[in-house]
Amino acid sequence: MKFKELKLSKQIMNAIEKIGYEEATPIQELAIPAIMENKDVIGLAQTGTGKTAAFALPIIDKLIRTSKPDKKIKFLIISPTRELAVQIRDNILNYIEETEFKCSVILGGVNQESQIRVLKNGIDILVATPGRLVDLIKQKKADLSNVETIVLDEADTMLDMGFIKDVKFIISQTKEKRQTLLFSATMPKEIKELAANIMNNPITIKTKTEEITADKIIEEVYFVDTKNKTNLLIELISNKEKPSILIFTRTKHGANKLAEELSEFDIKTSVIHGNKTQSNRVKALSDFKTGKTRIMIATDIAARGIDITDLGLVINYNIPEKPEIYVHRIGRTARAGKSGKSISLCSSCEQKDLKDIEKLIKHNIAVIEHKYKMVEQEQKPKQKSRTVNANKKIVKPLKDKPKSYSSNKRNNYSNKRNNDKRGFSTTKFKNYNRRSK
Ligand code: AMP
Repeated sequence: MKFKELKLSKQIMNAIEKIGYEEATPIQELAIPAIMENKDVIGLAQTGTGKTAAFALPIIDKLIRTSKPDKKIKFLIISPTRELAVQIRDNILNYIEETEFKCSVILGGVNQESQIRVLKNGIDILVATPGRLVDLIKQKKADLSNVETIVLDEADTMLDMGFIKDVKFIISQTKEKRQTLLFSATMPKEIKELAANIMNNPITIKTKTEEITADKIIEEVYFVDTKNKTNLLIELISNKEKPSILIFTRTKHGANKLAEELSEFDIKTSVIHGNKTQSNRVKALSDFKTGKTRIMIATDIAARGIDITDLGLVINYNIPEKPEIYVHRIGRTARAGKSGKSISLCSSCEQKDLKDIEKLIKHNIAVIEHKYKMVEQEQKPKQKSRTVNANKKIVKPLKDKPKSYSSNKRNNYSNKRNNDKRGFSTTKFKNYNRRSK
């Protein structure tokens, strides 16, 4: 569906034309008209489907049609992570370029003074992480009494991160007669209950469940002993194609350790996890997004929502214990109609987690043969913070080219991946990743 059929305001149409969107994605096609009709909407969409625009465009449209830029917060978006909050703010700044509305972001981990100043000067649209917003409400620095529309983005992540109480408090500070939108990749019981309590006759919109992983991602798994994971990884990331690579580890400690090990081989990486300061996190992400560093190692803090254009490869150094996390992780690649690849390194003690993932995504992941064959029967590490085998010995990577890996055709994954069912028309958008002002 062409955007012009959605009858959005001229200012929005001009903004999205400038960004380069032409066709609405499936979630946009369904969500935008419903939100424009003032309905409460639950959106179940896989990552990278264009869901930010799906909620932001119709609400900005509503602001243009019914409100004045009076610098009172009318539109509030709650995001679980700081990185996602910044990304949503950046998108919204692009969408409101031709309007007088002001948008800003409030997040933890940085000094609150500048945020208080911004709130005092007034804004129309606020994107916030829950913890800092609650602090500022309690200090009477943030007034949500004019909020007409609230979006809970990545609601299931907020639940995982223990934010539900904060979210409920924030909602209680907004207008009772408001429009509530909730986006979530999954619908656990607690989120269903939350939706029932805070939403008014919501309609649920979802993209087809069988498309739970992005269609254009080639997924591979390498069975390998833990002690050989880093050696194999080095070979995989040293190939001559050199895409941008995001490597996920299960723990913060594991991320730091892997970065150290790779640096011994002159492989430069940036690292992002919850123990890093906010300025470190911002720098790591921006270095990675701008291509200054080619490889980023992350915990699941970067698994959701984060939009990294041209990310060619996601590597699961550890298999995630929660299958949904796998979907989020690999959803960092193949964004906006592009293709991408994910490689999972699976030791014997992670095979059960892999099976759970395959059950969720409803297909088997292609097994790749390689020289570090799995021989050990490992026990799952008891302590969560110790995922890397302490006795692991790293050997220098081979100088000669790694053997070409032959794919075990135990599934027919590749022929399923040629169509982009998410509806992105790859030739149609030009500079959708334009950075915000
Ligand atoms: P999101 O799922 O909101 O993180 O969006 C993923 C990426 O798709 C972002 O880079 C968006 O700018 C881009 N995008 C969103 N909607 C469209 C569209 N209709 N056409 C092309 N790109 C889009």
